[in-house]
Amino acid sequence: MTVQSSELAVEALRPGDAGYGDAARVFFRTGAPALVVRPRDPDEVAAALAHAARLGLAVSVRSGGHSVLAHGTNSGGMVIDLARLNDVEVLDTERRLVRVGGGATWGRVSSALDARGWAITSGDTGDVGVGGLTLGGGFGWLVRRFGLAIDNLVGARVVTSDGRLLTASTDEHPALFWALRGGGGNFGVVVDFDFVAQPVSTVHFGSVTYRLDDSAALIRRWREAMRAAPDELSSTLVLPPRLPEVPQSARVLLCYAGAPGTGVQDADAALEPLLGLGAVTEARIGERRYREILEDAEQLPAGIRFVTRNTLVPALDDDLITALAHLHAAAIPAAIALRSLGGAFGRVPASATAFAHRSAEAMVVAALILPGTVGDADVERALVPWRAVAARGTGVYVNFQGSATAADVAAAYPPTTLARLAAIKRGYDPDNRFALNHNVKPAED
Ligand code: FAD
Repeated sequence: MTVQSSELAVEALRPGDAGYGDAARVFFRTGAPALVVRPRDPDEVAAALAHAARLGLAVSVRSGGHSVLAHGTNSGGMVIDLARLNDVEVLDTERRLVRVGGGATWGRVSSALDARGWAITSGDTGDVGVGGLTLGGGFGWLVRRFGLAIDNLVGARVVTSDGRLLTASTDEHPALFWALRGGGGNFGVVVDFDFVAQPVSTVHFGSVTYRLDDSAALIRRWREAMRAAPDELSSTLVLPPRLPEVPQSARVLLCYAGAPGTGVQDADAALEPLLGLGAVTEARIGERRYREILEDAEQLPAGIRFVTRNTLVPALDDDLITALAHLHAAAIPAAIALRSLGGAFGRVPASATAFAHRSAEAMVVAALILPGTVGDADVERALVPWRAVAARGTGVYVNFQGSATAADVAAAYPPTTLARLAAIKRGYDPDNRFALNHNVKPAED
């Protein structure tokens, strides 16, 4: 049953209500919040925030519910579920300006823009939310062509902890706008985002599977191919976890997004070097609609514990490759993904957004695979081989980081960036009401 509380004129679900179980659940966890509210507009978001403040409830803000730390739910607090704020509206056709609700998923966005032959560079997966992915940065299949999701953001409307509805852009609240582009959900509830879409309808997309004889040699050859690749080509090299049920082959995932009218021969020429990195066991590449590739993303199996860590590396040098080969051969099975960067991503100045790691050649993501029952001490032991990899990195991407300690936050932002974020936090959320995230503490006076 949906309750209309007299104190809170916003649809709310409490324990015992029909639908509460689903409302308390996110991708990685089932929480036990005191209530889940589903605001329909900015006023209702403000009312929910005031209610939480009155009762002293911790607040989770949820868009697509895919936070790797399940930050979109909690125990005993309030969840502000933005699922009803999911419109995708074209504001200006000529500029391809699109307003997207803070609770939309990227699948919804790509479907809505498909008929126009437009796309917004986002993540790899349609179920992931626009809110969380964008506020952390947003890496996807078009990263080298069009940069991060935040690089295509031109404005946002935000309800701050004191209930004000602000517009953040380069003209209004520019510091807040800067902070929203990489600083996570620390500054308020974003009710909608304004993006400039790109003219992309189809891409050349697929994967090449290689026999995994020598992971270090394969990484080196992939590195050389991507160093010579045009911006139109983005690619991720995936090494499988060493599990008996998982085929021991490496996969190169690739996406070529040419300008409209680009001939197939340009795509073929760009992709060709990625076809000759070793002994190919399978190659599946074809022209696909951007919308479809987000729908196809692979599902994660249930009942196991993933411990995810990542690092942005300035260079895929030989020491790093040796450390990666050790990690891959270690006793705890780990899936390892190397995402090539550079291109449009790398041309954004480091200080232009709160995501600062623009000179990285690649992002390395490791997902250690442990039984669902392991404790934290086991996790620490499992992470030992990862540390040699992390030591080669110069930054961390918050959205793939499976822990949110103060050290993780410090690793995500260079000191000047973090100091600026903390000062902005003091201005917009001085009491740290938005704390269930990779938390930036308000600067002290
Ligand atoms: P939620 O759990 O809903 O939100 C996460 C956090 O973001 C919230 O706790 C809150 O702090 C904040 N937040 C969300 N919406 C708002 C809002 N409107 N206003 C204020 N704060 C808000 N990342 C990539 O960059 N590229 C990928 O390809 C990619 N693929 C992924 C695939 C899977 C299967 C998963 C689980 C994660 C993936 N991620 C990817 C990571 C993803 O970016 C983060 O998990 C992100 O937090 C998910 O956003 P969400 O809105 O779905 O999550």
